[in-house]
Amino acid sequence: SFIKTDDVRHAPEPVQGIEGENDFSGKRYVWLKDPQAAFVKGWIVEELGDNHILVQCDDGSQREVNADSVDKVNPAKFDKADDMAELTHLNEASVVHNLHMRYQADLIYTYSGLFLVAINPYCPLPIYTNEYINMYRGQGREETKPHIYAMADEAFRNLVDEGENQSILVTGESGAGKTENTKKVIQYLAAVAHSESPVKSKSLQHSNLSQQILRANPILEAFGNAQTVRNNNSSRFGKFIRIEFTRTGSIAGAFIDWYLLEKSRVVRLNAHERNYHIFYQLLKGADRKMKQDFLIEGQDVEDFAYTRDGHDTITGVSDRDEWNSLIEAFEVMGFLEKEQVSILRTVAAVLHLGNITVMKESRGADQARLAPDARAHAERVCKLLGMPVEPFLQGLLHPRVKAGREWVEKVQTPEQVRLALDALAKGIYERSFGDLVTRINRQLDRAGMGMDDSHFIGVLDIAGFEIFEENSFEQLCINYTNEKLQQFFNHHMFVLEQEEYAREQIEWKFIDFGHDLQPTIDLIELPNPIGIFSCLDEDSVMPKATDKSFTEKLHSLWDRKTPKYRPSRLGQGFMLTHYAAEVEYSTEGWLEKNKDPLNDNVTRLLATSTDKHVASLFIDCADVEDESGATRSRVKKGLFRTVAQRHKEQLSSLMAQLHSTHPHFVRCIIPNHKKTTQTTQRPACARPATLQWCA
Ligand code: ATP
Ligand code: MG
Repeated sequence: SFIKTDDVRHAPEPVQGIEGENDFSGKRYVWLKDPQAAFVKGWIVEELGDNHILVQCDDGSQREVNADSVDKVNPAKFDKADDMAELTHLNEASVVHNLHMRYQADLIYTYSGLFLVAINPYCPLPIYTNEYINMYRGQGREETKPHIYAMADEAFRNLVDEGENQSILVTGESGAGKTENTKKVIQYLAAVAHSESPVKSKSLQHSNLSQQILRANPILEAFGNAQTVRNNNSSRFGKFIRIEFTRTGSIAGAFIDWYLLEKSRVVRLNAHERNYHIFYQLLKGADRKMKQDFLIEGQDVEDFAYTRDGHDTITGVSDRDEWNSLIEAFEVMGFLEKEQVSILRTVAAVLHLGNITVMKESRGADQARLAPDARAHAERVCKLLGMPVEPFLQGLLHPRVKAGREWVEKVQTPEQVRLALDALAKGIYERSFGDLVTRINRQLDRAGMGMDDSHFIGVLDIAGFEIFEENSFEQLCINYTNEKLQQFFNHHMFVLEQEEYAREQIEWKFIDFGHDLQPTIDLIELPNPIGIFSCLDEDSVMPKATDKSFTEKLHSLWDRKTPKYRPSRLGQGFMLTHYAAEVEYSTEGWLEKNKDPLNDNVTRLLATSTDKHVASLFIDCADVEDESGATRSRVKKGLFRTVAQRHKEQLSSLMAQLHSTHPHFVRCIIPNHKKTTQTTQRPACARPATLQWCA
């Protein structure tokens, strides 16, 4: 499991046979596994011989079980222990029980050795106020109760005292609270760092900077978050936010790296989910003038193919209010109105792209043509994106490709045109997102950045390990990332253990468990012997390769060569053994996903758009002149990168940064899959703010 609960200082338990913990009444308590409740507590009535015991359970039942199947219950003094490493009996039942007891008392944070565990309360708790910030400021872990602020403070103190970069790695499944905790870390750092600012005249600038760092989030969330079945505000991208500090601990700047935006969401929705928040915010919140300019006046969510299929609204959320917060955040961030309009115009263009429908040419065999009302939508797209409509339609319906020395027109079926339109919508959206982050970074990049003696605290908020019924390329990328992070954690544990033993001068043969994960990582990322990503890259540029031939090639390379890999028994794909579980991946569509192709007839037009912003988004698609003066596309010049390549490089840069830091680990846990608090048991949400929570 990702949580390594057994702290190194934990003394090994003597083997005690079937004894449970005696309480004052002399009863021996044990945990029994239970199919419904996971674990039930009970006391041993009788030893039945043959290693069996009779247990009186707390639910009233009496059960006869094998003595080896039960776990010991901790003495009452360990109830609601702050750090699970303190438990005398460290077993799964005790850990779950401890977390549960604490959760019911609104103690959502618990230490587990190196980890801080956070359980989503699904309601606002009064534990993030300024009073709380002050309570944690400059305090050591021993002096306070577990809290995300305690971890943030520790990182901050390490940074200032040791001059060492720090990182806080927040993991957990969707809806568990990663993003909320990330925001709390930043809120805390902004608060404590600002007041540390030693130079008075600079403090105004710094307070602005803190404000701007805090406001980056609503912007990122509007464009990168969406409602899913798991989370009403699910981040559909990963991020690493680096806050840079001066030697004295005041904020000097910030920088955001992002990973793997789920762009398929732009064009396809599951029922009960939504597209990115920004589409709804724009449609509900923009004023008449803007809607006129964006050619969406009088139109709403159901008028657009890309927003029509999913949910319209999120219970308890006003898209109009969110829009207002977004615009406010843009202002605080220092985005000019012109800039805001440029950014939002591309969002409107994406909506219109979804409405261009195509059909079969009446007499022609497969050739696509526009549906009767589609021209109007195409004209809107072109107007908003600053390109002429005729070449756009020509490039879309009759793209010209080079065959040898000749240019020829390709026949396009309606399906191919639809795919090309969706790919464009995704491409424009993803590039806009990237551009948005770049702009935010530009605003947050203050004089302090790049200073030789500055240090950073980086906060990583990325999707945790995923296993779905069907797993594809996206899951492989996410699980590969998590595999690397787990390896990083294991290695860190190992280093600490080693230091501890060395300090105590204990002779010990060291085993670096980080290496355990290497075979799976190699299998994914090694170029030689050729790993999954490299093999995919090779086949992505091979004209005759298909998903099937790629899969067969993988089998021939890896089947029986490593215990971590085997071919799928049913269907086209493979099984990979990760640290967390074995996952079956289906390889349908991987070559396309990896190439992520865009219609280059159209992207070339976009690169020459009259709208500077749009042109800049596609600058890499512009024709460039080669040495002989002939124009060639950049793609052909080898600037093209596959998705796998890009991800591998980004991840390797992230890992290099993490290795330069002192890491801190937060593990978020989801308490239920209903997105709600357990109101019957927890009237706590109505409870007034109290400092006792932490006292
Ligand atoms: P994803 O991977 O889908 O992005 P996540 O782990 O980032 O999920 P969050 O968006 O942080 O999950 O949390 C989901 C929701 O749970 C939040 O919108 C909020 O309503 C609630 N929540 C999470 N943590 C807290 C908290 N500490 N206090 C109050 N509510 C919380
Ligand atoms: Mg999130």
